[in-house]
Amino acid sequence: MAERVIPLVDQRLDARQPFFSQQPMPPSGLLSDARGRTLHDLRISVTDRCNFRCSYCMPKEIFNSHHPYLPHGDLLTFEEITRLARLFVHLGVRKIRLTGGEPLLRKNLEILVEQLAQIRSPDGGPLDLTLTTNGSLLQRKARALKDAGLKRVTISLDGLDDAVFKRMNDVDFPVTDVLDGIEAALAVGLGVDDHGHPSGLKVNMVVKRGTNDNQIAPMARHFRGSGMALRFIEYMDVGNTNGWRMAEVMPSAQVLDTLRQVGPLIQLSAQQPGETAQRWGWAGADGQHDPALGEIGLISSVTEAFCGDCNRARLSTEGKLYLCLFAHQGYDLRAMLRDGSSDERLLSAVAGTWTQRDDRYSEMRAQGVAPSEFPRVEMSYIGG
Ligand code: SAM
Ligand code: SF4
Ligand code: SF4
Repeated sequence: MAERVIPLVDQRLDARQPFFSQQPMPPSGLLSDARGRTLHDLRISVTDRCNFRCSYCMPKEIFNSHHPYLPHGDLLTFEEITRLARLFVHLGVRKIRLTGGEPLLRKNLEILVEQLAQIRSPDGGPLDLTLTTNGSLLQRKARALKDAGLKRVTISLDGLDDAVFKRMNDVDFPVTDVLDGIEAALAVGLGVDDHGHPSGLKVNMVVKRGTNDNQIAPMARHFRGSGMALRFIEYMDVGNTNGWRMAEVMPSAQVLDTLRQVGPLIQLSAQQPGETAQRWGWAGADGQHDPALGEIGLISSVTEAFCGDCNRARLSTEGKLYLCLFAHQGYDLRAMLRDGSSDERLLSAVAGTWTQRDDRYSEMRAQGVAPSEFPRVEMSYIGG
């Protein structure tokens, strides 16, 4: 087998100074970037470690015992994360997703959830607080997370066949344990709406052509009738280590063709601005979407870039603000947190940096003009 080239530049070390804005919140009350995109979502990575080695995210050959994971003192503390989260909410964030690495590996994560769940938007409303997990520790943690105030959860599962799933996670992790984690989330009511449907429980499957595309139909059959949302994600060229090839991307249009053989689907409208998934609902006997059957999401990051309304900011494990999943540099907020900067100064930094934002990597890739000369951050460090 050809030897993999390990990137020599650790892009985590490459931090930029934030820009500063004189007037953090414009009179409109909406903080827009250079392309008119309003800050709305914040993804917070709470660890760069994971107990899986998904080939598309943390390939084993690179994320081994020699990999320089961040020392604990470099991670933002829960208090630092909560302080920043409050400031982001002040600037317009209404949705927070905890991610990683595997977020449930962060010790006492429920304490952070409890702190974040207390944050209110300026109009007094609660945040949409959620978490993405590989599900391996969910059985153990679901109750504590729910009690701490977590609203819903997204679970990654790349197939129902053990051999295929183990090939994807590369640590021999069995499907049943993830399914038990999903059951545990259901049992404590995570993602269950007012009508009793678990519509807020989402299952994410990354599709790699030739590896797990034969799992699309079995996954659809399994989750059709559950009331959950099953989402198919196009395999992306994030990071520098996964050896991405366009030939391994299964376009969402082809996924949809396969799904239509499982049952009738009708297209649903977006629930929120900047939504990443194109939504489809399983139709009932009357030809209308039956919420009890659940829905499908197609995340076409490669074949149908959605940079135009991308409203997501990302906070890395050690407190750098990233403006795009494909960015090569983050803006160091931790240095400011630790040098005694005031809330006003931090607000000015986040607002000033967002205002300058011009990123649109996926669109540029689609147009064949994506810059390839810079190393990019790894998904496990910045969060998905
Ligand atoms: N460990 C958690 C998990 O797997 O759900 C959270 C972090 S993971 C980086 C977040 C999401 O990113 C997962 O749904 C994962 O499948 C997705 N992801 C990771 N690498 C990807 C890639 N190369 N292309 C598309 N999605 C990817
Ligand atoms: Fe871990 Fe999630 Fe990345 Fe898989 S996708 S290696 S579970 S962080
Ligand atoms: Fe947003 Fe960057 Fe993804 Fe475009 S490529 S949708 S700007 S994260």
